[in-house]
Amino acid sequence: MTANTTAALLHTLQSSFLKWRDFSLNDRISVLKNIKEKLLQNKHEYAHAITTDMNKPIKLALAEVEKCAYLCDYYIENASAFLKDQEVKTNWSKSYITFRPLGVLLGVMPWNFPFWQVFRFVVPSLLTGNVFLVKHASNVPLSAKALEDVFNVDTINFPVYKNLSVKSSEVAAVISHPIVKAVSLTGSEHAGRSVAETAGKHLKKCVLELGGSNAFIVLNDADLEYAAEKAVSARMQNAGQSCIASKRFLVQEAVYEQFVDLFQKKLSTLVTGDKYDETVTFGAMAREDLAEELEKQLQKSVAKGATIIAGGNRKGAFFEPTLVTNVTVDMPIFAEETFGPLAALIPFKTIDEAIELSNNSNFGLGASIFTDNPEQLNHYLHLFDEGALFINEMVISDPHLPFGGIKNSGYGRELSHFALYEFANIQTVVVK
Ligand code: NDP
Repeated sequence: MTANTTAALLHTLQSSFLKWRDFSLNDRISVLKNIKEKLLQNKHEYAHAITTDMNKPIKLALAEVEKCAYLCDYYIENASAFLKDQEVKTNWSKSYITFRPLGVLLGVMPWNFPFWQVFRFVVPSLLTGNVFLVKHASNVPLSAKALEDVFNVDTINFPVYKNLSVKSSEVAAVISHPIVKAVSLTGSEHAGRSVAETAGKHLKKCVLELGGSNAFIVLNDADLEYAAEKAVSARMQNAGQSCIASKRFLVQEAVYEQFVDLFQKKLSTLVTGDKYDETVTFGAMAREDLAEELEKQLQKSVAKGATIIAGGNRKGAFFEPTLVTNVTVDMPIFAEETFGPLAALIPFKTIDEAIELSNNSNFGLGASIFTDNPEQLNHYLHLFDEGALFINEMVISDPHLPFGGIKNSGYGRELSHFALYEFANIQTVVVK
C-alpha cells in the first residue's frame, strides 16, 4: 500500500467520522445490532478464515466468533447507561460531563485471537462515535478481510472500518498522520514500545495490551483435580498463544508431586488432529518461527537444568503440550514470556514466597490462585502486581470486567465501561 493509498483511506474515514459522530447513540447501537447479526449469520465462514489463517482448531475459532457476538450484546445492553451525560452539582446553574469521540483511531492488531482482539478494541469506541483504520497482523489476511466485511453493514452507506495493509515498519508514518487521533496496539512488548514511542512523539493517546507471564498458584488446600483441569485450559488453550495464559505454575510443596501428576494425566484430555475437525481442541501454533522461538527458550532452560516431564518435541509449527520441572527464576521459561503450550512448574513453601515468585516478572497482566479458603487471601491480594486476580478460576477476558495490565504488559483498559472512555473526549460543559 503506497503512502497515497493510505492518505486516501484516512480521508475517506475522516469524512465517515463527520457523519458517524452525528448519529445518536441509539442509532449507533442499531448499527451494532446489524453488525452482530451479520457476524452470527456468517459465523462458520469467519471461523473458517481464522482456522485457515492461524491453525486454531475450528471449534475454538467458532467459539471466538460467538464470543464477539456476546461482547456486542453486552455493549448493546449497557452503552446507553455508560455514555449518558453525567450532571454534576456545582456553583453554576448547570454543569455536566459528556463523552465525545476523538475521530479516526488506528488499531494494530495481533493474530492470536484475530476476531476477538479487534472486536474488543472496536466495538466500545465505535459506540462512542469513532471510526477505524486497522493494521492487522500480516499472517491473518483472511480474517482481516472478513472483519472489514462484518463491520461495514448495509444499513449505513459509508465505511466505519478500513483495513490498512502495510508493513509494521510503515506504521509509524501512519500514526504521525494528522487524521489519526489515537492508537491501540495488542501484541509484543517490542511492537508496543515502538508504537508508544511514535505516539508519544506526536502527543497521541495510545492503549497497549502486551504480553504476560501469569502465575497459576496452587495452595495446599486447593481442590487439586479441579485445579489441574483448569491448568490444562489455562496453559494449553489456543496452543498456549494467549497473553493471559498461565505460564508459571507455582505449587505449594505438600501437594506439588500430586498436582504435577494430575496436570500431566489431564493433558490426555486434549484432542489433536485435523484443524477443521470439530472434535479437535489442540492444534499447531500459528507460525513455525513462533514454535522455533519456544523451542529455543526450552533448550536454553534445559541447558540450565530444567527437566521435561511431558512433551517437549516440535514438528513444524506443532509443539507438543509440554510440562517442565526443576525450573529456576533465571531460566528463559520463567523470566520471559512463553507464547506456546509450555508450563513451567515450581514448588513453594509459603504464600509470601508464592507472591514473591508471581511478582518476579516484568509483566503484570494477571494471576490465578486456587484454594479451598479464599478468605485467607484477603490479607494478601494487595501485594500482587497484576491487572487481574482470579481466585479458583483461570484468568479470562469477560466484557463485564476491565482488561489490561501493568508493568511491561502495557497500559490502558479494554472491555467494561472503562473501554468506552479510553478513546473519548471526556468533555466538561458548564452553563452559568
Ligand atoms: P507482534 O507484536 O510483532 O505483532 C502484533 C502486531 O504488531 C502485528 O500487527 C504486527 O504486524 C505489528 N507490529 C510488529 N512490530 C511492529 C512495530 N515495530 N510497529 C508497529 N507495529 C508492529 O507479534 P509477533 O507476531 O511477532 O509475535 C511475537 C510475540 O508477541 C509473541 O511470541 C508474544 O510474546 C507477543 N504477542 C502478544 C500478543 C498478545 O495478545 N498480547 C499477541 C501476539 C503476539 P506484522 O504482523 O505485520 O509484523
